[in-house]
Amino acid sequence: MKYSQRVCIKRSHLRRDKQYLTAMATAVFKTYAPNQLQLLPPTWEEKIDKAHPVRVVDKVIEQVDLGKLYNSYEGGGTSAYHPKMLLKAIIYAYICNIYSSRKIEEAIKSNIHLIWLCGNTQPDHNTINRFRSHKAAPVLKDIFKQIVLLLAQQGLVSLKEVYVDGTKIEANANRYTFVWGNAIKTNKEKMAKQLEDLWQFAQQVATEELQDTAVVDFTTIDAQKVTETVNTIEEAIKDKAVPKKVKQKLQEYEHKEAILDGRNSYSKTDEDATFMRMKEDHMNNGQLKPGYNVQITTNKQIITNYDLFPNPTDTLTLPAHLDSFKQLYDQLPETVTADSGYGSEQNYEHLEDNHITAYVKYNTFQQQQQGIRVKKYPFAAEHLHYNQEQDCYICPMGQHMHNIGTYIRKNESGFEQTITRYGAGNCAGCPHRGVCHKGKGNRVIEVNHNLNRHKQQARALLTSEQGIAHRKQREKDVEAVFGNIKHNKGFRRFLLRGKQQVITEFGWVAIAHNLSKKAA
Ligand code: SF4
Repeated sequence: MKYSQRVCIKRSHLRRDKQYLTAMATAVFKTYAPNQLQLLPPTWEEKIDKAHPVRVVDKVIEQVDLGKLYNSYEGGGTSAYHPKMLLKAIIYAYICNIYSSRKIEEAIKSNIHLIWLCGNTQPDHNTINRFRSHKAAPVLKDIFKQIVLLLAQQGLVSLKEVYVDGTKIEANANRYTFVWGNAIKTNKEKMAKQLEDLWQFAQQVATEELQDTAVVDFTTIDAQKVTETVNTIEEAIKDKAVPKKVKQKLQEYEHKEAILDGRNSYSKTDEDATFMRMKEDHMNNGQLKPGYNVQITTNKQIITNYDLFPNPTDTLTLPAHLDSFKQLYDQLPETVTADSGYGSEQNYEHLEDNHITAYVKYNTFQQQQQGIRVKKYPFAAEHLHYNQEQDCYICPMGQHMHNIGTYIRKNESGFEQTITRYGAGNCAGCPHRGVCHKGKGNRVIEVNHNLNRHKQQARALLTSEQGIAHRKQREKDVEAVFGNIKHNKGFRRFLLRGKQQVITEFGWVAIAHNLSKKAA
């Protein structure tokens, strides 16, 4: 651009600014002086709205007994940041969906609510992280309990009626560094086969060697002869195709099996995380990711207990979860409502033994209610008439199916189920054959009478007026809590690693959730 053109543009800008200034002459602006010093500057306190959630956090934590937390500080050295301040700050950060320690540090410097909550102190991310993962970890569940009891005193939650459910949350672990239990099992079987072959070969060599040297007579055996024989065997099997590091490999597998501890998989970057199929969308599409099964009990959308399990299914988690509830509050709930994932004989037994009313569905409840089951499987054992006096079932052709014995079946956790078998006398030439029974011989059915009794009880409870109310409430109680945590709060992946750290992390999430419900 030429010099004359630039001068021309500059002049036109000057003319435009002059026009604006002339037009603005009548407008009045409020004073804007950000650097103006104030004689009596406002306090942080007056900047915080009276009904703001940050005040709820402050007020509730002020009522919690933090003696155990204070006692965990050894004393000596330089002064530490006040644990009460750190506790409040982290809970409030979690309420604001800020989970990273660096982002919490940043917010403590810039967020007016956190500035007020921290009393204008500024702990850095290392301090926040140490406190969150280590200092507060041993006492966090106790703090959680105290908060729940405070809310219960205010009538915001009841410990008598609880809703149980579980969800899978992704671990902070690499999705591609997995160890599979089945792969170890297969490899060990292959190695066992190779070792067996080697052993047989060695025996053969030894026999030949012993025959040649007549060492078979043990009365004449001596060290030199044994050494010579062993050396000969070693020499003979040297070239045998056996993995060179069999011993090391076996030790490695044993180590991995110890980490697996009955699970089928784990991630190398977080050995406590198990690979689970995670739901990715409403169509249940998903993929295998390392994660944890989080179990919670709720009432009025407030979390009353939380636990972490390595098993991807909910079936085996209920007894342990209720035990931890009892440990926490020294009492058990009066009613438990849960979905069909919990409807196992073991769970029903546990609830009955502890005098808990179980509004717990079983796997076929929904289909039974809709009449789908009887239409789909009219010949299923559950639809056959049972004659209790004679202990026999009546098949669709009127034939008596008599008790032909019982056996015990154990589930994954070692719970024993008694299964009774009933057999038809003669199925030959039956017109229903093929629909009723596809096997070669006569039809045999297996029945778990105790489970059937529990299912009958559960069905009566679930279809009662209270049962219907509990079922409806379950959907908007415990399921809504997971919805809030995962979708609204965006907490879909743990930041910490290892079961102890992860359970502590969920404890923070649970406390933040409960206090945000109180503030709502
Ligand atoms: S196939 Fe056997 S059990 Fe089934 S209806 Fe016929 S006789 Fe009865």
